[in-house]
Amino acid sequence: MPRGCPLDCGYCVRHFWGNFEQKTPQLRVTTPEAVAMLTGHAAFRPHTTPVQLFNKATDPMLPGVKPHTFAVLEELDRRGMTNLVLIITRFHVTTEDMAALEALQHVRVSLLFTYSGIADARVEPIAKNRTTIRSIETATARNDRTKVILYWRPIVPGWNDDPETMAGVLEVADSAGVDALVFTGYYHQEENAEFLRASGVAVPYADNYQRRKMLPAELDAKVVRAWQVSGISVPLFRKTSCGVTYAHEIPDYNGHWGVPELCDICPAAQRRRCAADRRSPTEAEFRQAPADLDYGSDTPFLIEDGHVLTHALGEQRRYALQHRLRHQIREVDHPHLHAAHGRALEGYEPREAQRRRLSEARERLSVHARYDDD
Ligand code: SF4
Repeated sequence: MPRGCPLDCGYCVRHFWGNFEQKTPQLRVTTPEAVAMLTGHAAFRPHTTPVQLFNKATDPMLPGVKPHTFAVLEELDRRGMTNLVLIITRFHVTTEDMAALEALQHVRVSLLFTYSGIADARVEPIAKNRTTIRSIETATARNDRTKVILYWRPIVPGWNDDPETMAGVLEVADSAGVDALVFTGYYHQEENAEFLRASGVAVPYADNYQRRKMLPAELDAKVVRAWQVSGISVPLFRKTSCGVTYAHEIPDYNGHWGVPELCDICPAAQRRRCAADRRSPTEAEFRQAPADLDYGSDTPFLIEDGHVLTHALGEQRRYALQHRLRHQIREVDHPHLHAAHGRALEGYEPREAQRRRLSEARERLSVHARYDDD
């Protein structure tokens, strides 16, 4: 399991994960150990748990990392696991890589190419050549069971939200014929903002640092409008899991169908899949799920329309429950307000009724808090 990356993207999350200075990927755990840790984890479920390989730590297609990426994929495949595996990269993908991916029999791989259209090398040094575009073209020329997604991120006001840049990204998606487009904003945190400002880059959002990604309503509307105006046939998604599951023709594993404002741009066939799959857990089922995962039998929860509110479970436990139930499991202290699902609240107007309901829910749940939260 390697960590470290030389690509130097100015907005990289490794600034606030504390390892941005590590440029050469270092192996922290051997690949067999990493696979054993993953598959032996109490929350891991063969065929069900979605996996992201080496995300937040490195780029899985860097030369020193790629052998490990393929070793993990091949080992999961050898074990007959059909889990969705997400590989997020902006680096070189070759015809040989595609042949190796296509030779897998069981794991369902999605290649997500981070491509933002940003041309400023202070923000994205890799932008000066066409590495990512060439990789997208190579991948789409040879993919069948491997799904290819253009991961349009980060979209940041003043960096890449002008009509020409947006049209350029959409054109790359269309001409390559990717399976889906997923868009999102950027993590506005002090560490990466300081790095960018020190490089002379204008950073929006002032000092309003947030734990979730920034993508104000106005920018969301701008992206959707640009996609509509382009007339391209590649579908656009607001959530990674939605783009991935659409490409693999299965319902969203994160149960976003309960969030109607995310689904208004989704293709009809995929909406039908998600609608048919949607089922709220019963109280008995929700009590049983954390107990099965050894989280105890007294997890506080409140089943609401389209999601379940919990408190102080922590992100890892919530996600394990969410993937098991294919239903949104949320932390009451990190509310998802209308239309701002999973985003920082900058640029959204919370509704008074929703505020009130959350505050009541919090009171009902917090008295039972047992775990440290994420
Ligand atoms: S219908 Fe909604 S939840 Fe399902 S994939 Fe589409 S956007 Fe996501």
